[in-house]
Amino acid sequence: MSITTYIGMGSNLGDSRQLLQQAVRQLQTLGQVQVSRLYQSPPMGPQDQPHYLNAVVQLKTDLDPLILLDVLQQFEHDAGRVRLRRWGERTLDLDLLLYADQNIHHERLTVPHIGLLERDFVVIPLLDIDPTLVVKGQKLKDLTLIHDPSLTVIEDQNWVEK
Ligand code: ATP
Ligand code: MG
Ligand code: MG
Repeated sequence: MSITTYIGMGSNLGDSRQLLQQAVRQLQTLGQVQVSRLYQSPPMGPQDQPHYLNAVVQLKTDLDPLILLDVLQQFEHDAGRVRLRRWGERTLDLDLLLYADQNIHHERLTVPHIGLLERDFVVIPLLDIDPTLVVKGQKLKDLTLIHDPSLTVIEDQNWVEK
């Protein structure tokens, strides 16, 4: 039986749109995928870096959480990711946001992802895919941060096929 997982994607170095498309295609090799719209958002953390492109993917997979994390980190590596500074610029960030309704506390992996409920660039794309999502007892559609978003939609849900 497949588990419903959500992966947050971000990029602000290189050809970000193409890197995110490639990441979705790689994720499609693991299971059934649905994608959010494509967004542009201001950087979190250091402000002297380019804006980000962001999206969220729903992936139905049988992979165990730590194996999925290994695969996500391999995809980041494939995209040429180099760690420069905390929350700094990167070609590709793939964060495991949700793994069914599991709570995971491991030295390498915290699920739900630590920043999920505070980040509009994660919450709004998640709602594109499932407007009924509940995380840590909170209905995402009722969070106040979605009313004054810092991000803008740049493409509708078929951006991967274009
Ligand atoms: P943030 O996690 O605040 O978005 P970041 O994505 O820039 O920051 P990374 O450099 O991509 O952080 O990852 C740092 C470490 O976070 C990874 O080595 C990984 O082991 C750990 N980690 C913990 N929980 C998760 C998760 N849910 N998804 C991805 N990585 C996680
Ligand atoms: Mg991140
Ligand atoms: Mg990350």
